[in-house]
This record gives sequence, structure tokens and C-alpha cells, in this order.
Amino acid sequence: MTGQVTYASYLPVGDIAVITLCLLIIVLFIGTFVDRNLQFRLFQRIISYTLIGTVFALLYHFSLTEGSWHNPAVITVMRDISHIAYLVTLFIYVYYFLILISADEKERKKIVIISYAGFFAFVIAEILGNIFRFGFYIDAAGVAHDGLNIFGVAYMFYVVIIFYLLIRYKDRMIPQISKGIWTTFIFCIVILMMQGLHGQVSYTSIVFLMPAIGFMYLLHSNPFDLSTGALNADSFSIAVRDCYKAKDRFIVMYLDVIETRIQSEFTPQLRFAIYRFYRDAVRKPLLFHLGPSQLVLMFRVKDNKDPWMRVEKIVESFSVLYDKHRLDFKAVFMEDVEVISKKDDYADFFQFIESKMPFNDYYYVEEKDVEEYEKQNRILSGLEDIADKLDLNDDRVLTYCQPVYNVESRRYDTAEALMRLQLPDFGTIPPYLFIPLAEKHDLIHELSLIILNKTCAAIRKFLDEGLPLKRISVNFSIQEIRDDNFCLDIINIIQSNNIPYEKIAIEITESRNERDFDMVKDKIEELRAYGIKFYLDDFGTGYSNFERIMELPFDIIKFDRSMVIESGKNEASAYMVDTFASMFRKLKYRVLYEGIEDENDENRCIGMKAQYLQGYKYSKPIEIERLRSFLLDGGRSI
Ligand code: C2E
Ligand code: MG
Ligand code: MG
Repeated sequence: MTGQVTYASYLPVGDIAVITLCLLIIVLFIGTFVDRNLQFRLFQRIISYTLIGTVFALLYHFSLTEGSWHNPAVITVMRDISHIAYLVTLFIYVYYFLILISADEKERKKIVIISYAGFFAFVIAEILGNIFRFGFYIDAAGVAHDGLNIFGVAYMFYVVIIFYLLIRYKDRMIPQISKGIWTTFIFCIVILMMQGLHGQVSYTSIVFLMPAIGFMYLLHSNPFDLSTGALNADSFSIAVRDCYKAKDRFIVMYLDVIETRIQSEFTPQLRFAIYRFYRDAVRKPLLFHLGPSQLVLMFRVKDNKDPWMRVEKIVESFSVLYDKHRLDFKAVFMEDVEVISKKDDYADFFQFIESKMPFNDYYYVEEKDVEEYEKQNRILSGLEDIADKLDLNDDRVLTYCQPVYNVESRRYDTAEALMRLQLPDFGTIPPYLFIPLAEKHDLIHELSLIILNKTCAAIRKFLDEGLPLKRISVNFSIQEIRDDNFCLDIINIIQSNNIPYEKIAIEITESRNERDFDMVKDKIEELRAYGIKFYLDDFGTGYSNFERIMELPFDIIKFDRSMVIESGKNEASAYMVDTFASMFRKLKYRVLYEGIEDENDENRCIGMKAQYLQGYKYSKPIEIERLRSFLLDGGRSI
């Protein structure tokens, strides 16, 4: 049935609103930062085709109502273009869904073929309808007739496909997202129905834009962090990836404003000041917010002639900012590095650099830093592999030890086990290169267990040979003690090597964390009940809480080498160290001095109540096997 069209009910408001919104969305996205992934590109096309469809819808309605524009062929073509653009929009929606749900290849092909077939069928039907007058046409008298609603059927065809995907793959979508999409489409259908009931045609275009707005809100929303106004950390990764792909060189300034960690937020004044200084210094800058106090400023070299001049300018304006705000900071400048860009490792790299630089300084990254970082990463993967395999006899973990001189018996009857690492292409790696790393990545306990096991095995051998060995101490990090299995792990290893518990001592350093106190105390008491001894390592470094130490049942207090050096400087320092040692001895602790390098150190420390001495004067750390000669004849036969 063909009906005469009465377009008195058409108002351009709906179409004009949609056109304006599409343009606004386009402008907003041009000016901002967003992940331009495949879905986003589809989203852009949806907006573009909706815009085209709506512009033509507006034009053809306008022509129908404006007598002077009344060219039937032109009107029909404009209407068809509008409908085709809308159908393309629907087709892209379907495709967008297929990606969203990661449909498998077969399903994707099936749906794409059906959608294509539908598209061509409807376009052909629409055109044939115009020609053979079962669809829209304008008669000789210039009166428009609607005919069969082919476009309405096409719309429902695609909506059914979308609903099918929403139902069939509901498990592949986060519930909140699928709810959002359902709601949007149901709203669209309601709009169409209301419009139909009132004989209206003004709001059709809204139905094409609404799901796009839903997607924009749900999936392409703004990556700016509300507290700083900077882009979030994920956006930094995206920017790095984009530059890497496009082979765009870039410069980054990493800024850690340490004190804001405490405040947990940037004050607005500081935030605005930072915006201003970077906006003035570079063209097309991007500002990212990586962590509670870390900002990254990034700019492309191609947008900024003489980029290092810009960096100088940044440093200049930043110094002014610093003078005003006086917040401690660390600033790192670098040009992009391929290996780091490739792995998107900048955040980690900045931390690596930051850990070795002083406060309130600017650091310019050099090639050697990257080499060092790479080296550290290779060590880290070695450590991960060791921890993963947890072979208690792992060849890569070497047990060195340093004999300890017993002042009273004038013999070497104890020693300290010290760890070394041996990784392919590295040779022997000293502790300062891997212990902090293992601690940071929670791999230290596995290493300690290996050292403990190897030390126990060596002790077993020495005892079997009848050597006079009192004990060997093994270092543990405070974080290991926090582990619930700490005591059990240690007991198991000592037992499995069949040595007396008192042949093992555990060295720990003081914890800075007050909350650890009771936990450390309980664990020490639990293991001491077996006969295991405890040493307090590195006394005198950092800040020592004397009262707290006194409450812990240590056997030996190890005075750090820094105390030995200090005591050699002047009378007052010597008096202080001596007083500490006397106090410990009165409280039945034993005193060991570390880092005795010569006779002066030795004599001074003996004068300061030393019961044990350890240092290069007696021996550097040696392979544990070589301890034998120290136990036998004081190392003379080594
Ligand atoms: P530490 O436990 O205080 O070990 C003493 C360090 O001082 C050893 O360094 C030793 O070689 C060095 N040293 C000994 N005598 C002298 C001397 O006369 N002069 C000087 N300048 N230094 C001397 P090393 O072996 O490089 O170990 C460094 C640190 O690494 C250790 O300090 C300890 O904190 C840690 N560490 C070593 N092995 C392990 C382990 O198996 N587990 C854990 N958690 N930490 C370990
Ligand atoms: Mg130690
Ligand atoms: Mg020490």
C-alpha cells in the first residue's frame, strides 16, 4: 500500500541536534588524547556515517517541504544516500560488536556475510521501490508517497543481529557494558515507536547516534585523571606505542614530586603551575600521571625544533617553580630508547634511574644507564628462573663465606655465609647488584633457602671431617621473616641436612617498621627454642632504636664497618662506640666488629670489648669449601 506523505510533522530540530552533536564529538576527539585502536576507528566511522546520513535526511526533508527545491530525482537520490549511510552505520555497529565479543572466525564470517547480503538486498529494494513505485516515489503531480517501509525493515534486521549477538555472547561482555548497550538500543526502539505513534519522522537520526554515545561513554571515555588533570598511565603506554610504530622520536621529562606522596594529591596551585611551565616550553606536549606523585611530560621531536633547547627552558622554569614551592623532587630527562619503547618499560626505567639519583636534581639519561638497566633486567630474569625452579642445589647460587676471628679462643670457629650469583655471560655477581632487586621482586626467600641448604651441606661435611666449627651465620632479609612459612622452611632445611640446629645462626638487620616488632620477636623466639642463634646485623647504620633492640633476644650484635671507621676518627666517637659495646656486653649480648681491615682496626676494636672480629684483615669472602683451612690452622694452609 502506498500512502501519501504528509511531512507537516517533520521538524528539523532532531537532525540539526544530531549534526551538531556529531560535529562536536569529532572536534572533541581531534583535540584530545584517546586510544586510537581498531574499535575507536570504527566508532569514528559510525559518527561520520551518521553525520552523512543525517545531513542528507535534513536536505531531502527540506527539499520536500520547500517548493523551489522540488526536483523529484534529486530528492529521491538524497533520501537513498541518507538511508545507505544509515545502513552503513548499522553495519559498522554489527562489526563493532563482533570485535567487542571477540567472535571466532567462523561466526564472524557468517555474520559479516549475512550483514553484507542484507545491505545489498535493502539497497536494491530501496532503489527498485523508487523505480517501480512500491517504495518511496514522487508522482507526476509532485506528491511524495512513502510506500513500503523498506528502511524500517532494514533497521530491524540489523537490530535483530545485534540483539542476537548480545544474547548469544553475553558472557563475553562485562555485565555493566552489556546492560548499557541493551538500555541504549531499547531507548532507540522506544523513540522509534513513539515517533511512529505520533506520525513523526523528525527523530530518526537520533536513533543512529545514541548507541555511539553509549559506546563513547562505556568504551572510549576520557583518560584524564581527575585529581591532576593529566592523562592516565595507560595513555602513556598508548602514546609510547603510537610513537614507536610511527618511528617518531620523542623526549620525556619524568618528574617525581616526592612530598606530594604524603599529601596524596597535587594541590591545585602546583598543578596549574606545572601546566603553565610545560605549556610555555614545548609545542604539543602531553602530560601523564604515572603514580601518586609522578608526572611525565612527553613531546615529539618533529613538533619541536631543537628539542634539547626546550629541555633547557623547562629546567629554567622548573627551577623557578622549585624555588617557590620547595617540594623535594627528582627529574629525569631522556630521548626515547628503542628497547624501552618496544617493551613499554619507561615507568620501570624511571624508577631504576630515580633509585640512584639524589633529591632535587636533574638527571640526563645516558647510554650507559640503559645498558645498566638491561643488565639488571637480565639479572632479574635469572633470579626469577632460580626462584621458579627452586632447586636447593642450584649451581647459579654460590655460597661464599667469611671466617670470623674469635678474640677469646684466638681461632676461627664461626663464619658468615655470603651469597654470590653466577649467571651466563656475567661471571660472579656481587650482592649489591642482585640482593636489592631480589628483595624488591620478592625473590629473596628462595635464594636464602638455597644458601641455607648449601651452608648446611657444607657444615655436615666439616662436622664429618671432625673440624672444630661452632656455627655459620646466614643472612635473611626482614621481609622474609614476615612470611608465615619462615620458621618451617628453615627448620625443614636444617633437618634434612641432619645437622644440629645450633650450627646455624640467622643474621637480620633492624626493621624500620614498628609494626614488625612483635612479629620479629615471636619468630626469633620460636627458632631460638630449637637452638638457632640470632645476630643483629649492621648495628649503627641508619637509625638504631636502642630500646627496641634490647627487647629482642639476639645473641650477637654485629657493629657495622661504619662504626669501626667512626671510632678511629676521634676520641669522642671511640668513646661512643665503646659505650655501646659495654652496654651490650653488660646485657649479655656478644659483640662482633665487621670490616676490620688492618691492625689498627683490630687493636682498637679489641679495646672496645670485641669478642669477634670479621674483615679483610683475616680473609675476604671465600668459597665455602676453603673455610676448611681456617678451621684447621687459622688459614695458614690456604
Ligand atoms: P653484610 O651481611 O653486612 O656482610 C658483610 C659485607 O661486608 C660483605 O659484603 C663483606 O664482603 C663485606 N666486608 C667484610 N669485611 C670487610 C672489610 O674489611 N672491609 C669492607 N669494606 N667490607 C668488608 P658482601 O658479601 O658484598 O655482602 C654485602 C651485603 O649483601 C651483606 O652485608 C648482606 O647485607 C647482603 N647479603 C650477602 N649475602 C646475603 C644473603 O645470602 N642473603 C641476604 N638476605 N643478604 C645477603
Ligand atoms: Mg651479614
Ligand atoms: Mg653487616
